[in-house]
Amino acid sequence: MHLNILALDLDGTLAEEGLVSVATWEALRLAKKEGLKLILVTGRRLEVLPEIGPFDDLFEAIIAENGAAVYFPRNDKVILPFGHLASEVVEQLEAAEMPLERGMAIAATWVPHDKKVLEILAETAYAATVEYNRGAVMILPPGATKGTGLLIALKELGYSAKNMLACGDAENDRSMFTCLLYTSPSPRDRG
Ligand SMILES: [Mg+2]
Repeated sequence: MHLNILALDLDGTLAEEGLVSVATWEALRLAKKEGLKLILVTGRRLEVLPEIGPFDDLFEAIIAENGAAVYFPRNDKVILPFGHLASEVVEQLEAAEMPLERGMAIAATWVPHDKKVLEILAETAYAATVEYNRGAVMILPPGATKGTGLLIALKELGYSAKNMLACGDAENDRSMFTCLLYTSPSPRDRG
């Protein structure tokens, strides 16, 4: 098996307390120079990433908003594969008294406001899903996970998950590790 694709989480993996060290940037530059394809997979919004570092120069795809926003720096293209958060969910979240951050396709709050979020989802017939990232609670369009966003990026780039190594530190990274199960084997794998 030839591993030449690295799918990397940001916070807690590449970054500590929101900062990527000089040594890590050097390692990423070296990895790219050696021919590895780098893909960033994060719960963060795209617009905050330039403040952290030059991801656009090194990564072939940036899966942001926990899979709900997929960006290809090379041609400056953003896709929202799972659409936007349902309007009835957004309205109820905004009406509830909780801190709320909005992305292009998702909303986020923090524990312990997840209890209210789960009530809202039950009232809207689960028009959205929830993923946790340590204390963060992300409310997503159905189908959006880091793993599904990653698979869409791989398909767009013409790469196979069979050649990928994924690294992450939290519960929302599990879908990255299992997305390999949803890929059909290549003719070579079938023997
Ligand atoms: Mg993380």
